[in-house]
Amino acid sequence: MRDFSQDHSALALNTATLGHNLDGYGAGWSPERVIDACAARGYGGITFWRREIGGQAVQIGQAVRAAGLRVTGLCRTPLLVGPGAPDDVTGDFRASIEMAAGLGADSLTIVVGGVQEGTKGLGESLKIVRDTVARMADEAQSAGVMLGIEPLHPVYAGDRSCLVSVRDAVDMIEEIDHAAVGLDVDVYHVWWDRSLVDQLARLRADQIAGYHICDWLAETRDVLLDRGMMGDGVADLTAIRGAVEATGWRGFCEVEIFSKHWWSRPPEEVLDLCAARFRELC
Ligand code: ZN
Repeated sequence: MRDFSQDHSALALNTATLGHNLDGYGAGWSPERVIDACAARGYGGITFWRREIGGQAVQIGQAVRAAGLRVTGLCRTPLLVGPGAPDDVTGDFRASIEMAAGLGADSLTIVVGGVQEGTKGLGESLKIVRDTVARMADEAQSAGVMLGIEPLHPVYAGDRSCLVSVRDAVDMIEEIDHAAVGLDVDVYHVWWDRSLVDQLARLRADQIAGYHICDWLAETRDVLLDRGMMGDGVADLTAIRGAVEATGWRGFCEVEIFSKHWWSRPPEEVLDLCAARFRELC
């Protein structure tokens, strides 16, 4: 495993950590200010949310690289199935690929969506997800963007993600079998999964699209907006990274903390603490 204790250049910021994925939270920093703050602190990359980018993808991507960082990712495609999916999934999916390409982002995260109306259980919805991702994979590859399928914690299965296990995600990646389709591993969603090591062992390094870090608080008050800072919870962060790195993957570790608590703190403090905890604990 890599040793980050003296060097956190493998750390990337997901801007949701500063509240940028929801209205009314965080300090409202511009992308430019986020870029400067990350560069000043030695972060290696930034993952943005579409709502921050608007029509400025190319300019923002250039600004990130000019500051010596990478655009590690973009969040995210539309939900592909279930109650939150838009009428025009294909069109919105395409728009997200184009934005990721404009940014020069390494990957585009897919949160797949919940259970399709009129169906029960997960099976039919998972087939819709698989077929939609397979249909869009060539476009992503042409745009130079890796699609990262992210399984979420089972508590979200109804409305946000019928994909709740790493096993089902790896099955789907194998079925699609496309160079532009891989897995996003998010500590928040997989920390409890005792089969994680065995499932990740089914993947190659180039099938890991992203690795997202935070912690699971033992007394979680809100399953969406009470993620923990690394070290404050019960996830075995080094064991999980070890399982991801056992594939040979050596990419960025992206801190992604949706938390009303941390969004109420000064962004400078949050960025400093993330870097310190990353060096100590991740
Ligand atoms: Zn994530």
